[in-house]
Amino acid sequence: MSNPAEKIRCDACPVNCYIAEGRAGACDRYANHGGDLVRLDMLTIIDAEPDTMVPFLSGTDGTDWDGDLVHSNRPFVTAVGAGTTYPDYKPAPFIVSQPVAGVDMVTVVTEGIFSYCGVKVKIDTDRHIGHECAIVRVDGEAIGHVMTSEYGSKMLSLGGVEHLTGGSKKEGRVTCDALLRLCNREAVEMTIDDVRIVVQAGHAPIINGEVERLMRVGCGSAAIGMFAKQWFEHLDDVVVVDDHITGVLSEHQAGKELGVPPTGIRIKGRRSTPGRYFQVAEPGTGWGGTNIDDPLTILGPFKPDVAWAGMRMLMVSTTGEQSGYFELDSDLVPQPRPMPEKVQASVERVAENCEPSICSVLFMGGAGGSLRAGVTENPVRLTRSVKEALTYVSCGGAEAYVWPGGGITVMVDVMDMPTGSFGYVPTPALVAPIEFSLRASDYAALGGHVDAIRPLDSIPRDKTRRVGPARNQPDPTAAVNFSWSTNKERKP
Ligand code: SF4
Repeated sequence: MSNPAEKIRCDACPVNCYIAEGRAGACDRYANHGGDLVRLDMLTIIDAEPDTMVPFLSGTDGTDWDGDLVHSNRPFVTAVGAGTTYPDYKPAPFIVSQPVAGVDMVTVVTEGIFSYCGVKVKIDTDRHIGHECAIVRVDGEAIGHVMTSEYGSKMLSLGGVEHLTGGSKKEGRVTCDALLRLCNREAVEMTIDDVRIVVQAGHAPIINGEVERLMRVGCGSAAIGMFAKQWFEHLDDVVVVDDHITGVLSEHQAGKELGVPPTGIRIKGRRSTPGRYFQVAEPGTGWGGTNIDDPLTILGPFKPDVAWAGMRMLMVSTTGEQSGYFELDSDLVPQPRPMPEKVQASVERVAENCEPSICSVLFMGGAGGSLRAGVTENPVRLTRSVKEALTYVSCGGAEAYVWPGGGITVMVDVMDMPTGSFGYVPTPALVAPIEFSLRASDYAALGGHVDAIRPLDSIPRDKTRRVGPARNQPDPTAAVNFSWSTNKERKP
């Protein structure tokens, strides 16, 4: 048992851990090393060429900027590993300056403690994973819900202050842990009613043990529109089975314009416009996100005065993964037949046009609260400065989408951020990196902690982790991000 007198108090968050020599605090971010409180992860700097050992502090005064936003040679100090100051009125852990194309720029860097945060998850799949508003659970605890489906994707809203703080202690802890793992690109298994799903940023979802391969080509109607020309010469009718909008070639406008005659087909479900049917089956994990394994179950009897024996029909799902070729017998009943080569090729074309199915995880958090005090003594001026596009907000160097309206509510793709960007504190809350970049003159004007500014090259190089820039990410300090260069402000 350690002597409490040997412990040091961590003041980086409200938990105020007393940490014994050689031990880490409750969040595993801070430790007691020989009586010094140290941040265990290194400060992360984005460097254009981290693997070639180009000194990250040399030759980067900005005067050689070539206008390439993605691959500027300037290093950028992210907030990953920067630490947190608490209470909030203390200046942020790093406020660094560097000249950029002749302009003195300042970046204020801090690891924010976000009680108001969560993730939005996009899962590219047609499969039914739960109705809108269904509860998403991890270890039996509610951590979020299913929200409105998007085109070819199911969406989840996870975390948020209600789950972090408004439920039981276990609900808050499990929610925080799930968010942390998702944001750090780890796999998290969750359940939605009787569906099991594994979500990992940048990876295919695993639904009820099956790895999803393809995102659908489009809805059933869109698929008819796309491929009608490739079908009408080889088939009399095509049904693209989809949970939302099932398409029928002979009735669809695309078929009409190509001269496809009526086939007497009858589809169960609610007819919307010609060749487009809703609710042909229940949602599920079968064909096109329905619950069916036998596509013929969505057909009614063919109209005897229109249909004819030998009529050729393709039924295909929206990913092309399920398909069947049928011909009507003398009783006008569809019978499965070997699929002709050209029809098979068209089914493969549908699958070829599907993109790989992946999970996307976007962190969303509110930075319009007390952490602003680490940037300026007059917090509302930071909010205004962001709205006026005088201040550029990034998370781990990745561009943050700032929502219109009040506050500084940001959203960022975790795949654009350095690995291991996120931490947590057991309050519970997520710890996320956030950087505010602006001109030094603007920083002074908004009441910034100018006495705490230090030049970039004062940061000891051996205490940093250097990572390469993410693809397609703008340089946070580039002039094009700011209204003084572009005359464009953010939406109010
Ligand atoms: S939880 Fe972490 S940041 Fe908070 S006081 Fe403990 S060690 Fe410090």
